[in-house]
Amino acid sequence: MSLANKLALERRGRLAAERLLELKEAELSAANRKLGRHAAALQGEIVETRAEVANFKTENERVKSELGQAKQKVEIAERRLWHSVQTITDGFAFFNSDNRMIAANSSYLAAFDGLEVIRPGVHYVTILQSLTDEGIIDTGKLTPEAWRELMTERWLQPQPEPITVRLWNNQYIKLVDRRGHGGDIVSLGLNITEAVQYEKQLKSAQAEAEAASRAKSTFLANMSHEIRTPMNGVVGMAELLCDTGLSEEQQLYVETIKKSGEALLVIINDVLDYSKIEAQKLQLHPEPFDLERCIHDVIMLLQPSTREKNLTLLVDFDLFLPTVYVGDPGRIRQVLTNLIGNAVKFTSKGHVLVRVTGVPDLENGQAVVNIAIEDTGIGIPDGKINHIFGEFNQVENERNRQFDGTGLGLAISKRLVDLMRGEMWVTSEDGIGSCFGFMVPFELGTTELPAHPPVPEGLRRMLVVDDIEANRTILQRQLEQIGMGVVTCANAKEALEQLDQIDLVLTDHNMPGMDGLELAEAIRATGSEVPIILLSSNTTYAANDPGAKHVHAILQKPLPRADLFSHLQSVGPLLGNQKSATPTSAPEARKMRVLAAEDNKTNQLVFRKMVKDADIDLKFAGNGVEVVELFQSFKPDMIFMDISMPKMDGKEAATKIREIEKETGGHIPIVALTAHAMDGDDQGILASGIDHYLTKPLRKPEIHSKLRELCPAEACHPLLEENVAELQAG
Ligand code: ADP
Repeated sequence: MSLANKLALERRGRLAAERLLELKEAELSAANRKLGRHAAALQGEIVETRAEVANFKTENERVKSELGQAKQKVEIAERRLWHSVQTITDGFAFFNSDNRMIAANSSYLAAFDGLEVIRPGVHYVTILQSLTDEGIIDTGKLTPEAWRELMTERWLQPQPEPITVRLWNNQYIKLVDRRGHGGDIVSLGLNITEAVQYEKQLKSAQAEAEAASRAKSTFLANMSHEIRTPMNGVVGMAELLCDTGLSEEQQLYVETIKKSGEALLVIINDVLDYSKIEAQKLQLHPEPFDLERCIHDVIMLLQPSTREKNLTLLVDFDLFLPTVYVGDPGRIRQVLTNLIGNAVKFTSKGHVLVRVTGVPDLENGQAVVNIAIEDTGIGIPDGKINHIFGEFNQVENERNRQFDGTGLGLAISKRLVDLMRGEMWVTSEDGIGSCFGFMVPFELGTTELPAHPPVPEGLRRMLVVDDIEANRTILQRQLEQIGMGVVTCANAKEALEQLDQIDLVLTDHNMPGMDGLELAEAIRATGSEVPIILLSSNTTYAANDPGAKHVHAILQKPLPRADLFSHLQSVGPLLGNQKSATPTSAPEARKMRVLAAEDNKTNQLVFRKMVKDADIDLKFAGNGVEVVELFQSFKPDMIFMDISMPKMDGKEAATKIREIEKETGGHIPIVALTAHAMDGDDQGILASGIDHYLTKPLRKPEIHSKLRELCPAEACHPLLEENVAELQAG
């Protein structure tokens, strides 16, 4: 290679090296710049961090000082709390979740009387052990082991129930232990010695007071019973004296004696009942009875007063409800008499409606029966509703003052219903009326629903005439239930237009415009011989009306369904021919035979007078032996039996009769006549085979009601309904 070439090559190489150098220098300076920027940024961060550190430092100092203060406060609070805990007289301790004591106040520890082991750290089980070992606790009937076991078990409960323990020195401590979330337990021992002693004193004072009250009630019950016996003579003799041809003035005096005697008896009976309930001596005597008949019996007795006031008495007995239940008929009647009696007493116009409803549980043979008595009387002011159920409590206002009474009736009725496991209630609107009701759970007397009464052939459509809508509805429902077609009319005029296709007319007596008997006359005037039954609240008055000859029967209203249905039966022969409208009775029927066992001649006389209006064949027996003889020879339909008689008493005679019946069959109804009114006496009576009992002094209505109730089908009815009504009115 030439020199020139070599030089050129070298120059090119140098130039290339110079360019590379320049490039590297440029890169270096770029890197330096970047480094410079980074260094500057770092510098900034360092400054910031330094500032933050300074900040944290001051913050830390502040928190530290605050913490110190807080700790101080906590210590003060803890000290104060502990101070307080120490000052309380009740024991206080707390335990950790391992059941070891953390701390306890001095009251708590005092119970252990300085026992060394009882200090913080002690286990609960050791505490229990010390309590029994040192005799600090009175474990009562439990052995120390059993007591400790009981207490340990309790302690381990998530939330132990408070328990009261007795210490050796007769102090009572109630232990209340609360478990916290972490398992810690706070234990409080409250000294309740004073409260326990006070409670003991209270209990013994209460027992004393109750015993005294019972003794007083027993005394009252015995006294009222004793008073009844002589009252028997006063009322009975006054009644006899009335029939001995007295002058008008004498008659007035005697009647006053009789009425006052009877009023006094009502009060004595109330006091006797109330005292018996208070002395816990009143017992119920359940037996099968007919509730519907029971209600009608009560209504029967109240007829005279309702008639005087022209009140309408209605009974609406639920169609689908059985009527026979097992209960104490005497006491049910007493409650009904009080409630219906009050309704009549406090109502001057309108109606009193007895409504019976309920749902029978045939499978279990039970029914809850509701009986409500609704009136349109004076009502009860709002604030007095609860007051009236108290003893001797009455509404004291102008309207009420005119009525007499003891104010015991409702108190007794409510207690009786309570005894029957029932409930009584009342709703009332002042000036509008009241509704008293009670509900009683009964056993069913029969598990069969009432049999469907037979309907005479040819009786398909009936006309019911009554101005009171409730009455029409009740009758319509009852009749439709037996498959009858029913047309209802609110007055006689309408009825005369509806006679077509009617088989029987059932009409009310007292209606505005044309009354029931006038309607009967008008029906006959049309040439119709359709049978007519008149429902009247005054059957005597109706029977004496010339229009009575047009009606087939006059019935006392309201009447039980069974009676209505049986009267429909008796219409049977008249249907179809519709020729005769004269009342029919079984002409061949014999008189009812009644045997009365009574050794006392005066009492025989009283009894004879009381049944003088009854069409019966009556024989007397002077002792139990005669009763048994006459039972076989005279074959009575029923026996009224005095209990205390010479030779053989009433109970023995009844037992003998029941023995005879075991062989001959049959069951004669026996009604005891007794002066006994205390419980226990009547139990013996019923146990001897007697079915019913009446307490002396005897009353005509009660005897007549038994005659009516117990008259067999083959004998003619001993009393016309109007006789009964007349007797009541008299
Ligand atoms: P008595 O009727 O002998 O006063 P009760 O205990 O039977 O006693 O009744 C207490 C009171 O309750 C009555 O005096 C009367 O003020 C009020 N009372 C009871 N029944 C009725 C009623 N149906 N209508 C209005 N007030 C009544």
